[in-house]
Amino acid sequence: MDQRAEALDVAHRHAAAYLAGVRDRSIWPTASYDDMLLALGGDLPDTGEDPAAVVEQLAAAADPGLMGIPSGRFFGFVIGSSLPAAAAADWLTTAWDQNAGLTAATPAAAAADEIAGRWLVDLLGLPARSAVGLVTGATMANFTCLAVARTVVYRRHGWDVLDQGLAGAPPLRFVVGEHRHGSVDRSAKLLGIGRQQFVVVPAGSDGRIRVEDLAATLDRLGEGPTVVVLQAGEVNTGGFDDFEAAVPVARTHGAWVHVDGAFGLWAAASSSYRQRTSGAASADSWATDAHKTLNVPYDCGVAVVRDAEATSEVFASHGHYLIQGAGDPSDRTPELSRRARGFTVWAALRSLGRAGVEELVDRLCRHATAFAEGIRATPGLEVLNDVCFTQVLIAAEDDERSDRLGVSLREEGTAVMTPSRWAGRSVQRCSMSSWATTDEDVERTIAAIRRVVSTPPA
Ligand SMILES: *Cc1c(COP(=O)(O)O)cnc(C)c1O
Repeated sequence: MDQRAEALDVAHRHAAAYLAGVRDRSIWPTASYDDMLLALGGDLPDTGEDPAAVVEQLAAAADPGLMGIPSGRFFGFVIGSSLPAAAAADWLTTAWDQNAGLTAATPAAAAADEIAGRWLVDLLGLPARSAVGLVTGATMANFTCLAVARTVVYRRHGWDVLDQGLAGAPPLRFVVGEHRHGSVDRSAKLLGIGRQQFVVVPAGSDGRIRVEDLAATLDRLGEGPTVVVLQAGEVNTGGFDDFEAAVPVARTHGAWVHVDGAFGLWAAASSSYRQRTSGAASADSWATDAHKTLNVPYDCGVAVVRDAEATSEVFASHGHYLIQGAGDPSDRTPELSRRARGFTVWAALRSLGRAGVEELVDRLCRHATAFAEGIRATPGLEVLNDVCFTQVLIAAEDDERSDRLGVSLREEGTAVMTPSRWAGRSVQRCSMSSWATTDEDVERTIAAIRRVVSTPPA
């Protein structure tokens, strides 16, 4: 066997063993970051080692520091697992090692990217001719969309950013909701949109932007380059902005409308939940993740921009050494060299089909509802949000008890939720994002939560 095949065999054996056992181990890592620095550390070796032996060592050293994300009982942050077909396609992606930037050089990767993109916009009910870029996550998807937004709204006001840069440009008005995701601020920072250019519109107790306030804000701002950022799926409550009302308001004021729908945009794939995103498709750009609700392996975000021409103007680059063609994936994303993420998205969508994606979204929501019911029936705990999608916010009688609930559950090992704050209170947040979660996982997690809340602190 050659060295590559041997090393891959070792990886396959360890991966299969890990996945077979992940449901029966502590979901929270049993080793800390410092433990891992020690386990993986030491000086850079002077001489190399056998590849298969290196993979053996890595698997052994990393194991206690792994979070049980594929277990079905990891509910922290907003993190999906990996569908079997997507995980396997990701291995092939690595073995094939295609640089997916160019159609002529890597036709299979570029075609998978193109087809996956078309399937995604179809599934999410977005305009068919949009530019679709597969990037690292919703953060980069927001960045990608907002880079095009900035260019286009400036151009409408007589300023060409691509030519003139930003120095001396009129200020951009960056209108965002109070409960926007932090990645929107991060994207703005990278795009030369300063804090003074933010216009923050209040949100209701459900996390949704107040449309009357949005309208009043835009009236007050008057003419000028304006971007409005709306949200499908607030990270705490799962709340959706009222797109039917908000998008026309923003459009009347000549603003570009961007929707951050990292996980919430997937509501559009289900006939039961589609109405939550109603009106979102008339925006100008949309960011979502494939590594959250669609359950492809890290990493994969999706940037969708209605104006495909402006998108390629912003991102296309030229080099005599490149073999450029129409529809190069790198014309739709900030990167030139890229991982061929289209293969995993293609495999995920092919393995589920339209009906399977719908069933997945419905199942995640059903689990969230069942989980919330279990929490409401637990003395001393309450659910703070209207469970309209996949997120459940849990609070105990006071902040200390809420914090302790999260820590005790992690230590107990059955499941993981992560903390947040909502309405001035400490909460534990449960995000139903994994295809691997079963009804039994939900029941086991409720049982574990009841155990830890009824156990007095040591
Ligand atoms: C997770 C999330 C993001 C950031 O996505 P990454 O994939 O972590 O880059 C942005 N917006 C919302 C609403 C999110 O939930």
